[in-house]
Amino acid sequence: PIIPDYLAEVLRDVERDTSGERAGYIPELATADPERLGAAFAMTGGEVYGAGDVDTEFTIQSISKPFVYALALSDHGFDPVLARVGVEPSGEAFNEISLESDTGRPRNPMINAGAITVHSLAGADGLSPTARVERVLEGLSAFAGRPLRVDEAVCASEMEHAHRNLAIAHMLRSHNILTEDPRAVVDGYIRQCSVLVTVRDLAMMAATLANRGRSPLSGRQVVPELVVRHVLSVMFSCGMYDAAGDWATQVGIPAKSGVAGGLIGALPGQIGIATFSPRLDVHGNSVRGVSLFERFSSDMGLHLMEIP
Ligand code: GLU
Repeated sequence: PIIPDYLAEVLRDVERDTSGERAGYIPELATADPERLGAAFAMTGGEVYGAGDVDTEFTIQSISKPFVYALALSDHGFDPVLARVGVEPSGEAFNEISLESDTGRPRNPMINAGAITVHSLAGADGLSPTARVERVLEGLSAFAGRPLRVDEAVCASEMEHAHRNLAIAHMLRSHNILTEDPRAVVDGYIRQCSVLVTVRDLAMMAATLANRGRSPLSGRQVVPELVVRHVLSVMFSCGMYDAAGDWATQVGIPAKSGVAGGLIGALPGQIGIATFSPRLDVHGNSVRGVSLFERFSSDMGLHLMEIP
């Protein structure tokens, strides 16, 4: 088994790095086992190869952002979504309270201001907050190829400390970027972030993007192919917060990280990759996850700009 052996070897190499800290601002996340470590490759043909903690559940957090963005684009079409959320890299931290000065639009859908707006655009107009969360859960499950559920403890824990996201949502409401009750939208967005996944799920979700939006597991076309091209482009330029430029040059794979320690990458037409390790660097990206992707990219020549 060449791939699992390779994965096990790379995991051993990064395992000794215990630098970084678990996310502290969500108390439930600060109790995660910091030693957890897993990685998986999902092929567009449906095969999954993994090593380490591939079946440990953790919350998806910001890795939900590109997928819910894809759902919003496919539910509404491009124009209404682009009118509310831009696609320019902000180079800012994930929770920066910043909007474009002229339009009030969040700069992109990967920072919280954009993702909170995008949550409100999932599903048809006028859905109740509960029905919207259902649409999001159903859509994330379709990407994963199995039914996913919310971690109520993490969700409640984050909601209690959501002042910053609430402030962002109120600002969006004051610019009429959000037209619904800011609290209800933040509540839905935090439920979206609290969906439980494993490394295996995340690799399959990324493989669904890599496979033109069609789930390698179920065969279902989850979102249209043009939506996937758009979403992968935004992941490439904005997926790694204020480390997005470093990532694009060093790793060169469209990617998204989450504060629970998950990280995904999707290589168009080829493979979905996911890793999990809870300790984060100063940008909020998993320390060992970043190392793993650097290894994968250089060992296998996965950088998209590499000329064969
Ligand atoms: N739920 C988190 C927040 O909005 C997600 C952040 C992340 O994963 O980067 O603060």
